[in-house]
This record gives sequence, structure tokens and C-alpha cells, in this order.
Amino acid sequence: MGSDEKRGGQRRISRRAALIGGTAAVVGAGALAHDELRRVWWRVPGVEKKRVEGELDHVGAVWTAAARANWRRADRPDDYGIDRVVIHVVQGSYPTALKVFKNPGHGAATHYVVGKDGRVAQMIRELDVAFHAGNREMNERSIGIEHEGFVDRRRDFTDAMYLSSAKLTAGICVRYGIPVDREHIIGHVEVPGTDHTDPGPYWNWNRYLKLVRGQMPSARQVAENKA
Ligand SMILES: [Zn+2]
Repeated sequence: MGSDEKRGGQRRISRRAALIGGTAAVVGAGALAHDELRRVWWRVPGVEKKRVEGELDHVGAVWTAAARANWRRADRPDDYGIDRVVIHVVQGSYPTALKVFKNPGHGAATHYVVGKDGRVAQMIRELDVAFHAGNREMNERSIGIEHEGFVDRRRDFTDAMYLSSAKLTAGICVRYGIPVDREHIIGHVEVPGTDHTDPGPYWNWNRYLKLVRGQMPSARQVAENKA
């Protein structure tokens, strides 16, 4: 039996089997390939976190579900760590973003959509992997935030939108211990392999990061109150 076959056998240990088998099923873990070790779902006994329909991760967001085809069920940050926030611009309006993300044929959606007036829709739980970056690894490690407007229209990036988005990103950074810098808070344009240009030249990164930093104390406060 080659080592590949051996690994294959261990890979077949299902979540269910691991739960039933308890420690016996976990013994093989040491031989698993590195990328599978990243997904140590048995690290948390008792499995997936409980989900409640309409439950939100961001205080102040309104829940409106994306189509099931536009995201993948996961159990983050226990199966995949979250260490990136990806900033997008819709190339359209807030209602358009909601509409396309509710369309199963679209094949993509972000966790959040922020409007020019500052309103925030949550469409996918942070637990789950949204298809927004066009890059599997990036999708698995990130939260995607879409912003109403067009990349070539400076006036679309309103004060209300910047502030509301900064509050959202600050909350995400607190929840997962993500550093507030340009390595961890990136534009879709910076995702490896992408041909997308958003958020474009009028997105003011210095302003945005400053706003996010300014929102960190109140985001920590919100997290403490929730705990
Ligand atoms: Zn994008």
C-alpha cells in the first residue's frame, strides 16, 4: 500500500465517523497532508456552531440571504482561519447588488453590501465561504464587502459609506484578530490572479484605514458586550 493510498484511507474518515470514533479516529491525523491539517474540524468537539436563520455577525446589518449557490457552507474560523477583508465596488446600485447575489446563476456574492447612505446588508454568515474573490484560497480566508457605486465615479464613495464600512471592518478585525493594515485589508484588484480592478483609483485607502483604526475601540466594546 503506497503512502497515497494510505492517506486516501484516512481522508475517508468522515466528520460523523470521527465523532462516533472519538479519539481513535483522530489518531491518523498526524499523517494527513498539510493542507488537510489546516482543516482540523475535529478540533472543536460537538461540531458545527449552531445556526439561527437570520442571525447576524454585524450589529446594525440587515439580514437578506444570498442564493445558496453563491457560497459554501463552512465552520470558520475553526476549519479555515480568517485573516483577510476584501473590499469590492459593485459597478451598480445597492439594490442591484442584492438582486444579483440572490440569483443562483450569478455564482458569486459577498458577505456584506454597504450602501452610499451607510446601510449594511449581511447576505452570508461569516462562518461560511462566500464566492467573491475569484480565488478559492482567498475566499476561504476572507470576508468580502461590496460597496454600492462605480469605480470611476468618485462621488459614489460617500462619507456615510466609508464610516459604515469602517465600522464593519473594525468589527471583523476584532472578531478574528486581524491586523488593520494593507496586507490584511485589501482590494479585489490585489487578489492573486484576478482581472478585477475594484475598488478602483477613487477608493481612499489612507482614509479608510484611519477610519477603521478609529472604530476599533467601539468595535471591541461591542464584542465585549456580546460575549
Ligand atoms: Zn470585486
